[in-house]
Amino acid sequence: MADEQDLERKFKDQCAVFGVYGHPEAAHLTYLGLYALQHRGQESSGIVTSDGSSHCIEIGMGLVQDIFNQDKLALLRGDMAIGHNRYSTTGESHLKNAQPLAVDYSLGSLAIAHNGNLVNAVQVRSMLEASGSIFRSTMDTEVIIHLIAKAESNNFVSRVVEALLQIQGAYSLMLLTEQEMVAVRDPHGFRPLAIGRLDNAYVFASETCAFDLIGAKYVRDVEPGEMVVVSPDGLKSFFPFPKKTAAQCVFEFVYFARPDSTVFGESVYSIRKQMGMALAKEQPVEADLVIAVPDSGVPASLGYAEESKIKYDIGLIRNHYVGRTFIEPSQQIRHFGVKIKLNPVRQLIEGKRVVVVDDSIVRGTTCRKIIEMIRGAGAKEVHMRISSPPTTSPCFYGIDTPTRGELIASSKSVEEIRKYLGCETLAYLNRERMLAIFGANKEKFCTACFNGQYPVTMPGMDILQPDLFESVS
Ligand code: AMP
Repeated sequence: MADEQDLERKFKDQCAVFGVYGHPEAAHLTYLGLYALQHRGQESSGIVTSDGSSHCIEIGMGLVQDIFNQDKLALLRGDMAIGHNRYSTTGESHLKNAQPLAVDYSLGSLAIAHNGNLVNAVQVRSMLEASGSIFRSTMDTEVIIHLIAKAESNNFVSRVVEALLQIQGAYSLMLLTEQEMVAVRDPHGFRPLAIGRLDNAYVFASETCAFDLIGAKYVRDVEPGEMVVVSPDGLKSFFPFPKKTAAQCVFEFVYFARPDSTVFGESVYSIRKQMGMALAKEQPVEADLVIAVPDSGVPASLGYAEESKIKYDIGLIRNHYVGRTFIEPSQQIRHFGVKIKLNPVRQLIEGKRVVVVDDSIVRGTTCRKIIEMIRGAGAKEVHMRISSPPTTSPCFYGIDTPTRGELIASSKSVEEIRKYLGCETLAYLNRERMLAIFGANKEKFCTACFNGQYPVTMPGMDILQPDLFESVS
């Protein structure tokens, strides 16, 4: 068995999944869908297709545009496909961890693409290894494959149910056999998964921005705990798991999802903007200018400006050819990365009292650099406004966050964080105010990263969090 600590460090999945059933250009559509979902994962990408009798596979490291070309897509035969983008986790990039995972087992060919994070993967893997299973990757997803292969039923769908009943945590999955496609969300519905139609084909995607690109129509979400099976008999829906309270990830709205997507049935842009408006109501400040930390802070800052009637302008310019600072490999490069990525517009900022809006503070290192930059550009005052509550607790369900100790808000008060950041004032959006935006649906969210109340817990769950980041203190 692999060294357990080493193994656990890699059990992380922040990803995108996509699927097409019944379209002659399934591979090409999946390629486009993955392109639209690139923000959910930049480490690796893959497509598995089926022509009804066998699978074709293309997987590689890097961005969608670098992995696939016309020749490779032409080799991906068939009118069914699933695809996956994997998020980079510092230093742990291996092709063996790229998805979809494709295998042959007693019932035929099977491919799986997973967005989420299984909290009992270590325990299940140990149990499987003790009974002779051999693993080829360090992904939690691989345990699902083994559980399906070992399940007793002769029927694929029943085997999937049997396997999923043994795992806990977050999963939005796409599975593909030679003739069937399964889309399933865990009973809490942590991660999104939407169903669309394109002509007579069914399409599935983590976010609806992928449907927009291929001209598909968003129909509805796969519901929490729902299993959708598409086969030559059409689409069938099942709810095979014991019902649980919905715990959809609110951080999808705060940061992760693209603003042009509909997630959990809500417009991400609209929710993000309302977060900014609520923040302005709750945390007003006298100032001359509202600016955003691009890109994730933009909708909230527009909301803040609209509500506060303070002028909005583009005070920070982002170099769009640089990846997210969060995924860079070392603290040293990360500091450098902020400067590579963002630059203030001096002419706009000089002599002004500036409100800077960002969606969240994780470790505080980026924010601190940004505030220093804005001050360096001549701002008279800098007021930081965060359109979500303090991030106090790590995510175990698929968002890449540092360990608790490295989250600045886990141990420091707002005033201590303000001092560390070096701004005149700092204020966050209150959790209840944030949830109120969702109206009648406000009970359907997981806010564990903000209040530490985890809907699914496992002994030793915290060791799933790798030690990626240096302390800010
Ligand atoms: P920092 O000041 O270092 O805490 O970084 C804050 C920035 O990280 C904010 O602009 C957020 O948009 C961004 N951020 C928050 N969560 C994540 C995440 N899971 N992955 C990448 N970036 C994130």
